[in-house]
Amino acid sequence: MRYISTRGENSGFSGAEAIEAGLAPDGGLFVPEAVPRLELAAIAELAGLDYQERAGWILGLFLDDYSSAELAAAVSAAYNDATFDDEAVAPVRRLANGVNVLELWHGPTSAFKDMALQLLPQLLSRALAKTGGAGEVAVLVATSGDTGKAALEGFKDVDRIRVVVFFPEQGVSEIQRLQMVTQEGGNVSVVAVRGNFDDAQAGVKAIFGDKAFAAGLAGRGLKLSSANSINWGRLLPQIVYYFSAYADLLKAGGIRCGEAVNFAVPTGNFGNILAGYYAKLMGLPVGRLVCAANANNVLADFFRTGVYDRRRAFHKTLSPSMDILVSSNLERLLYHVTGGDAAVVRDWMDRLSAEGVYDIGGAPLRLIQETFWSGWADDRDTAATISQIYNETKYLLDPHTAVAWRVYEDYRRVSGDGAPVVIVSTASPFKFNRGVLAAIAGPQALQGKGEFEILRDLSRTAGWPVPPGLARLDGKPVVHKTVCGKHEMYDIVNCILNNEYKVGEKP
Ligand SMILES: *Cc1c(COP(=O)(O)O)cnc(C)c1O
Repeated sequence: MRYISTRGENSGFSGAEAIEAGLAPDGGLFVPEAVPRLELAAIAELAGLDYQERAGWILGLFLDDYSSAELAAAVSAAYNDATFDDEAVAPVRRLANGVNVLELWHGPTSAFKDMALQLLPQLLSRALAKTGGAGEVAVLVATSGDTGKAALEGFKDVDRIRVVVFFPEQGVSEIQRLQMVTQEGGNVSVVAVRGNFDDAQAGVKAIFGDKAFAAGLAGRGLKLSSANSINWGRLLPQIVYYFSAYADLLKAGGIRCGEAVNFAVPTGNFGNILAGYYAKLMGLPVGRLVCAANANNVLADFFRTGVYDRRRAFHKTLSPSMDILVSSNLERLLYHVTGGDAAVVRDWMDRLSAEGVYDIGGAPLRLIQETFWSGWADDRDTAATISQIYNETKYLLDPHTAVAWRVYEDYRRVSGDGAPVVIVSTASPFKFNRGVLAAIAGPQALQGKGEFEILRDLSRTAGWPVPPGLARLDGKPVVHKTVCGKHEMYDIVNCILNNEYKVGEKP
């Protein structure tokens, strides 16, 4: 299987090369040259396999430059009983009201990013061995919260890889901050940036775009790479759980083989739901993909009108991992629905960066609307949904999942589509403890309480244990104390990669 760029200038990359490069050299995203198709009989067979076997099998279809033994080793290093607290890895729960929930948050950081970021480092370190490069890779990450911790957990102590995570000093929740600044691992550094997420992201992008800086690093045997959700090695692991959920429904007798299932996905950068689209292209009987947004509703407008317009106010919401105005992975969908017209995709992306808006016109929009439906929910509806589902079923939704639930209800009302549905659940309710407790017990329940008290309250209310990764944070020593200005990020990266300063020191 070869990979090509959505912008048309690069082709012939192997899976390992695409994963190592992250972004294509022409600025586009890597897509497989041809998407493999599966027969229903093969999908039915997945029901008899466990998650690790399902993953190895699907990865093998796309990464034929890895041996099946290599893929099996990568998969078992990623998904095992030390990293995931549920044997099924990504279990499907059937709630009392008949709705299925796919729980993607049983990994070490309690959010769905673990599904990809436990596996990407395994694929990347094996890619380095294949492509024959010597030296080390430095992975730079700017995070608004969930990605940073998941990257730290996935990459910690992985051979030949160093990780530097930048987070906005005031821009993450207290739980998210504690998760990062207490991180262990000899190859990881965490730095708070005085600024917002955009400042941190702009700083990392500037470093990536600086050819002279890259040349200096190369002279020392270092190459930069990204753990960002545009890397094919992050998207591919996500295709697995759509198949796995379908196989689990088959196994439980909830559907007939071939019956279409709808998926509702809380969406930010469009990575998760795009994996569902690939699953559909591969022949999985996916009916409708419901793309759920919060008040940052660029995508909901786009799927209705074909106009992508980022020129609007940015909202901070109860579902911060979806607070995003530019959904990078949409570029891959555009490539596929234009039949691989790289020139057109490049033109739209150029317009987006120059003018902040582009319009795809009628024909591609109609194709997209055959599969996707999109809506959005504000914070009030999100909190009301958490409370309503808790009262009806005693099941706790995190705010991101509640957005998907709410938007799915809207879809069902508008369309009358009664097909079986899977709500894709992207975070443990404990990770967004404040929003969830306030939704079910009222805002006064938070008053005067620290993070760990709130976790314990939530645990008592729901009768669920606090996830071990979050419970352990209580009293864990802070090891990463560096804070830098947004213009100091270069210097910090230089110091860290030169071993000129140790973890926790002020540079
Ligand atoms: C990252 C994230 C999302 C958004 O996923 P995308 O792949 O960016 O669309 C939704 N929910 C949670 C909890 C996340 O961490």
